[in-house]
Amino acid sequence: MGTSLTIFRFRGISVRVHWSFLLILAYGAFAYSAAASTPLLGAIYGVITIVLLFACVTLHEFGHALVARHYGIGVRDITLLPIGGVANLQRLPENPGQELLIAIAGPLVNFALALLLLPFTLLAIGWEMRAGSMQPGFMQILQNLQTPGFGNLLLYLFATNILLGAFNLLPAFPMDGGRILRALLAMALNYVQATRIAVLVGRMMAVLLAMWGIFLWTVGGGGIILLLIAFFVYVGGGAEREAVESRAVLRHHQASEALPTDAVNLYASEELSRAVDLIMNSYQTDFAVFDLGGSFIGVLTRARLIHALREQGADARVVDVMLPAAEIPVCAPDTSLADVWEKMTTSGKRVAAVFEGHKFLGLITLDDIAEVLHVLAAAMQGQGRRAAGGMGQQVGESVQDA
Ligand SMILES: [Zn+2]
Repeated sequence: MGTSLTIFRFRGISVRVHWSFLLILAYGAFAYSAAASTPLLGAIYGVITIVLLFACVTLHEFGHALVARHYGIGVRDITLLPIGGVANLQRLPENPGQELLIAIAGPLVNFALALLLLPFTLLAIGWEMRAGSMQPGFMQILQNLQTPGFGNLLLYLFATNILLGAFNLLPAFPMDGGRILRALLAMALNYVQATRIAVLVGRMMAVLLAMWGIFLWTVGGGGIILLLIAFFVYVGGGAEREAVESRAVLRHHQASEALPTDAVNLYASEELSRAVDLIMNSYQTDFAVFDLGGSFIGVLTRARLIHALREQGADARVVDVMLPAAEIPVCAPDTSLADVWEKMTTSGKRVAAVFEGHKFLGLITLDDIAEVLHVLAAAMQGQGRRAAGGMGQQVGESVQDA
């Protein structure tokens, strides 16, 4: 998502658009200009329609975001993609009840918007029919829906909100309906089992959506968006199931188990060239930094090191480049690895510092957690139990909702 642009902020939540959004605007302009008597007017109308459609998607995401925040869950941002929006939550809800309400809030916003639009839509259509600019009859209205007009625009937005609300309620995890299903299942089963069932149902829905998309495509009615959504549901569901399984495994292991035993530390006044030497001669990628008094004051991360080497050269001092200690999540040796992982995800950092009281014990990186998962997965396979392969890859996955 590196190529997203922030368009505005509301209540501290920034709304970002992906560059590919421009393609959708262009498509809107193109599709509507063909249907209008004057192509330019049609193109402008098409752009307005698409912008309003995505305004409804944005409000849907704010439904999720504001309910999540009500439960103390931070919202990193809302990102608009051509196939819809994503509210990026900083962590998972604490219990199924919260997840249910966060998931259902999005579709409810759309139904509320439809209800709000209904009287205005009926008034506008009635007015235009009396004035003769709109023809009565259901088929006539449908056929001329792309013609620029106030009644048409309101009708389109009304229908779109009903469709957005209903479509998102399909039990296709990780879509809203699938999350609602998972939350309901999780009230009776454990979280991992509930997720597995929701993902299975979601994948069956994805196959149906894909078949529907291919059918629409063959009869010339589009269907590309449906295929994309089916793909997203299929892949996204599997990714989230693995993340949930990994988290369940990590809950039974402590930070102390992931601590590297032979980590090398740096002093604040050293130059970056020393870190380069160390990286060349070991597998270590992130270094704890100490002042001359022996206090932990920060971390030289791989990303910071590479950036600084490019900008300042190898003779820059570690202290000027490191991530200060205040920005690094802290945990105790008996903190569960699931919580350490969550602290990293929440803070957006790939390292955590382990302290026993005031004593610094070492750093844990996302790579260390992935390593623990790989070892556990291998051990499980060795015992002939259900394979937990691939779990390690899921570390670093952010908490997402679409
Ligand atoms: Zn939603």
